[in-house]
Amino acid sequence: SKVSIEQKRLLTKLKQECATPLPLLQHVADTMSSEMRAGLSSVDGSGLPMIPTYVHTLPTGNEKGLFYALDLGGTNFRVLRVELGGKDDRVISTHFEQVSIPHDLMIATSEELFDFIALGLAKFVAKEDGKFHFPPGRKREIGFTFSFPVKQTSIDSGILIKWTKGFAVSGTVGRDVVVCLNEAMERQRLDMRVSALVNDTVGTLAGAEYYDNDVKVAVILGTGTNACYVEQISSIPKLQGHVSSSGKMIISTEWGAFSNGLPLTVFDREMDAASINPGQQIFEKTISGMYLGEIARRVLLNMAQEDDLFGSSVSQKLSTPFILGTPDLCAMHQDDSGDLQIVGSLLYDKAGVESNLTERKAVLEVCDTIVKRGGSLAGAGIVGILQKMEEDSKGDIFGKRSVVAIDGGLYENYPQYRTYLQDSVKELLGTEKSNNVVIEHSKDGSGIGGALLAASNSMYK
Ligand code: ADP
Repeated sequence: SKVSIEQKRLLTKLKQECATPLPLLQHVADTMSSEMRAGLSSVDGSGLPMIPTYVHTLPTGNEKGLFYALDLGGTNFRVLRVELGGKDDRVISTHFEQVSIPHDLMIATSEELFDFIALGLAKFVAKEDGKFHFPPGRKREIGFTFSFPVKQTSIDSGILIKWTKGFAVSGTVGRDVVVCLNEAMERQRLDMRVSALVNDTVGTLAGAEYYDNDVKVAVILGTGTNACYVEQISSIPKLQGHVSSSGKMIISTEWGAFSNGLPLTVFDREMDAASINPGQQIFEKTISGMYLGEIARRVLLNMAQEDDLFGSSVSQKLSTPFILGTPDLCAMHQDDSGDLQIVGSLLYDKAGVESNLTERKAVLEVCDTIVKRGGSLAGAGIVGILQKMEEDSKGDIFGKRSVVAIDGGLYENYPQYRTYLQDSVKELLGTEKSNNVVIEHSKDGSGIGGALLAASNSMYK
């Protein structure tokens, strides 16, 4: 079998529309920089959200004692205990447990959800042996990594703006989630308090910087995406009058909301229109794990409808939104067998279609096109942040070693995505500058980061 002229035409068109030539990447990086600036000044919603996190200092390494982290970000919550030994001993030990959240609790009341979490914490603490002793009256302190949108006004408080990711718990929106958790812990007679509320990018930055002082930016590339970095208070006009002894604050860029100059196709526009948040989070919808598989499915469905890819009838499964996940794209992308066996069986299992070798090759081209665009644009976004920091500091970023710590299931598991991201950063920066920029995978840094921030914001300091 051979590729039909029409299939070739559709593929060529897709590749053209998704192309990320250097001038386009440079435009995205430049616009990212300028929208960061706009967001730091604006209170009227222009530019990126650039959310102040009220984290003024990163952990120094001198933190000592036992601290906890609670990570609530999706269908599981994780509890972590970290024993910190200060400058020389650093992290002495860690212990963590994961608890899955029963589905009915995701649509329960706020008290029910937080009671369940507090009970999980209580069980975790109850299992500790005598080794972990706290003086009478001293509460165990927790860093609460909470990956839902909150409006923070201090390091240890934040009002829930809305639930996302399938949570529809009643009575939490508009309330301080730290108060909700502290109250539940009191109901459990648990002697713990939240001393830092952080989002997962901030946790990742703190966790990675603890081991490597050159870490300047943290990025999450998982189901969704976000990035944060350390900003000078003097460069945050919208925080005028705010005092910080360090003169700095970590800013959560919320770069998923970026949309300027992205190379989008009709498939992106249709996916966006059908989403629960049309018109929003366009950068996130182009580069993050929740969406790459769905974009590819929409392209393949179009090729099936317009040009009989996979035969003359269009499979019902292929017409079903989100039937192809980004992990499926990734699995197909790793197939190096001569007859593309894995691609064939995955297409059969997931999309309900039989395919010949030519069709499988076309499918791989589609995957590669979508993943290349995503990884390259993520790289351009990173360069945009670095560029902005360099402009303000004159040499602090490209003149010395600068590390970007990245975590998240997409970056961790998708080698081609990683490569496209790194290639884009290199292409944009050129050899000299990019030699100073190190992109590192910081696995589960946000857990330790949360505990470290609890320590550096301890009430007992
Ligand atoms: P979250 O972002 O939901 O907190 P993760 O960082 O673990 O959690 O990211 C999970 C996401 O990573 C999934 O939604 C998926 O898009 C992506 N992912 C997971 N495994 C793979 C894989 N093998 N290949 C590509 N992407 C993956």
